Amino acid sequence: MRKIIHIDCDCFYAAIEMRDDPRLAGRPLAVGGAADRRGVVATCNYEARAWGVRSAMPMGQALKLCPDLQVVRPRMDAYKAVSREIHAIFRDYTETIEPLSLDEAYLDVSDSPHFDGSATRIAQEIRRRVSQELHITVSAGVAPNKFLAKIASDWRKPNGLFVITPDQVEEFVAALPVSKLHGVGKVTASKMERLGIVSCLDLRERSKLALARDFGSFGERLWSLARGIDERAVQVDSRRQSVSVENTFDKDLPDLAACLEHLPELLQQLDTRMARLDDSYRPDKPFVKIKFHDFSQTTLEQAGARRDLESYQRLLGAAFARGGKPVRLLGVGVRLLDLRGRHEQLELFAP
Ligand SMILES: [Mg+2]
Repeated sequence: MRKIIHIDCDCFYAAIEMRDDPRLAGRPLAVGGAADRRGVVATCNYEARAWGVRSAMPMGQALKLCPDLQVVRPRMDAYKAVSREIHAIFRDYTETIEPLSLDEAYLDVSDSPHFDGSATRIAQEIRRRVSQELHITVSAGVAPNKFLAKIASDWRKPNGLFVITPDQVEEFVAALPVSKLHGVGKVTASKMERLGIVSCLDLRERSKLALARDFGSFGERLWSLARGIDERAVQVDSRRQSVSVENTFDKDLPDLAACLEHLPELLQQLDTRMARLDDSYRPDKPFVKIKFHDFSQTTLEQAGARRDLESYQRLLGAAFARGGKPVRLLGVGVRLLDLRGRHEQLELFAP
C-alpha cells in the first residue's frame, strides 16, 4: 500500500508577490501580462477570485470584472528560487518526488522513516515548515494513490490538509462527482449526465465493456478510478519528451480542408503550453498526430522544420494522405531537447 502526498501551493505567484511586497496584500492582485498587450492572468489571489477573476482569463476581462485589480508582471526567477527551496524541504522526508509544475508535486513517503511512517504527520510538518521558513502557504492531500492525493489537496484549499485513509477510499470515491475525475472535462461530464452517471457510484454500476463502448479507450481507466484504483507510480524523472495539444471532435472531420481549418486554434493552445515550460527545455521538431474515424492513427514529425503554421500545414497534409479517411482526433506538438545535463541531474538528487 502506497502513501502519497500531493502538495499544491496556494496562488503561488501571487503569494510570493504579496510576501515580497506587503503593500500588495489584502487587495485583489493578479500576476500576468498587461491588458493592452493581450496578456492573461497567470495567478491571482483570493481577493481577486472573489470578483470572478480566474487563471488563464484575459487581463482585459479581469480588469472589467475587478476595476481595482492590481496587476504585476511575473518574476519567474523568483518563483523558481522559491520552488527550489520548497523541494529542499520535501527532500528532508523523501527522495521520491515528482514535480508537476513549479508549485505542485507528488511525494511518495511509503518508505519514509519519519514520524513512524505517518504520511499525515509528514504533510503537516511540510506545511508548517513552508509557512514558517518561506512565508507562503501550501495545501496538502494524503491518500493511498496519486489520483486521490490530488483530489484531497484541493478539498480544503487554501492552506488546508485533507487525508483519505485506505479504509475511507471506498466511501469517499462513491460520493465523488465524476467531474472531479482526472480526464473528465465538460464534454465527457455532460455526456455522462445524459447517461445518468453523476457520481462514481453510478459509474461503478457499469461494466468495463459498457464503459469502453461509451467512452472508448478512457472507459477502462474510468472503471478503475470509480473504484479508487490508480497504480501510477510517483515518477522521479519526469523530464518531458514533448509538449502537445490534441482535440477529439464531436463530429469527424470529413477531409483535409476541414482539418486545416482547426490548425490555428490548436497551435495557439500549443503556444500557451510551450510558454509554461521552464527554460531547461528547447523546442525541437514539430509533429502532428491524426486518429482516423476507424481508430487507426499516425504521427508525423519533421527534423529541422520551423514551428510555424506553414510547417504544420505541410505535416498535416502528409499525415492525412497516409489514411485519407475522416478524422476523429487531431494533435499538434513539439519534441523537446532537454538542456539539463545528466551532471546537473545527479547534483540535484545528491544528498
Ligand atoms: Mg497551485
